[in-house]
Amino acid sequence: MFTDRLNRARELMAEQGVDVLLLSVGADLPYFCGYEAMPLERLTMLVVPRDGEATLVVPRMEAPRVAERPDVFGMRPWDETEDPVDIVVGLAGAATVAAVGDHMWSRFLVELMTVMPDAVWRRGSDVTAPIRSVKTADEIERLRAAGAAVDRIAGRLQRGEIGLVGRTEAEVSTELGRQIVAEGHDRVNFAIVAAGANAASPHHEPGGRVIGTDEVVLCDFGGTIVGDDGVGYCSDITRCVYTGAPPREFNELYEVLFEAQAAGVAAAAVGTPAQDVDRAARSIIAAAGYGEYFVHRTGHGIGTEAHEDPYIVEGNDEPLVAGNAFSVEPGIYVPGRWGARLEDIVAASPTGPDPLNRADHNLAVVA
Ligand code: ZN
Ligand code: ZN
Ligand code: ZN
Repeated sequence: MFTDRLNRARELMAEQGVDVLLLSVGADLPYFCGYEAMPLERLTMLVVPRDGEATLVVPRMEAPRVAERPDVFGMRPWDETEDPVDIVVGLAGAATVAAVGDHMWSRFLVELMTVMPDAVWRRGSDVTAPIRSVKTADEIERLRAAGAAVDRIAGRLQRGEIGLVGRTEAEVSTELGRQIVAEGHDRVNFAIVAAGANAASPHHEPGGRVIGTDEVVLCDFGGTIVGDDGVGYCSDITRCVYTGAPPREFNELYEVLFEAQAAGVAAAAVGTPAQDVDRAARSIIAAAGYGEYFVHRTGHGIGTEAHEDPYIVEGNDEPLVAGNAFSVEPGIYVPGRWGARLEDIVAASPTGPDPLNRADHNLAVVA
């Protein structure tokens, strides 16, 4: 699998005229070699020459954590008194065009630029995103398993089995995080809990606000399940509940959101430009008069990273291909008052949109 992925990267490097691919911290590294680097000041870097062996340059003290795959990459542990940038430059050879991972620390890029003054620098994602954004059947199943895990939590939330009223947003967020791990995730990526007027802020930071009766509670949560091969796949779901009977006005808003989200999912077919999924959802919200309150794109790709290509946004006219997996998550946010978002992960498949979340889409009323 890793060999396949690296070979495809080399094909794209050849097409794009890239001589060497340099991957450091971030999701590219585990995707291509099964090792996830800690975000440390000590440099870890997979050096992938277009026509040569890949080498993982890694601090010697971290080397024991690497699952060695000699058929995929060689190892070059470096000692505390060595300069890892020199080692990378040695392995990169006479590279004149270098693509660097998007999440590489600027500190290392600046050092590389100093010692490779004639090199041309490209974004690593130009090489890696076209590969990562098209999932294999196995990857889709791993995303489906992660989706099913958060669906179970959403179900408990909707049945009122997760206490809300009288607890703070932060307490509920911690509870969601515990359940994300209990459901098999290796880490929690986020657990947004936004009550009442806080739900009008799409990425609200859960805080000390105590959840009361008769208000909306927006919960958006997900984590990563890491497989035996060291590669993790993410979940991401949003559901809203109401702590009491919702007022008519909120029910109307939610009905629009429900229809918009369903229309977005239905539009997510192979061959459809990504922006048309956004348009399908947005046009319903706009027609109902809420257009100004839908302040973000409709979705983002998901895989080893919680947000990756393809982005479901106006301006992205790339047609969806089988194996793309992404969120469809329209929202309506009325500042100072309330807000709602409804989010599923969906895969584009030859047989049509394949939703990876199945939790009830209705607004649940909880005591
Ligand atoms: Zn978001
Ligand atoms: Zn989300
Ligand atoms: Zn999302």
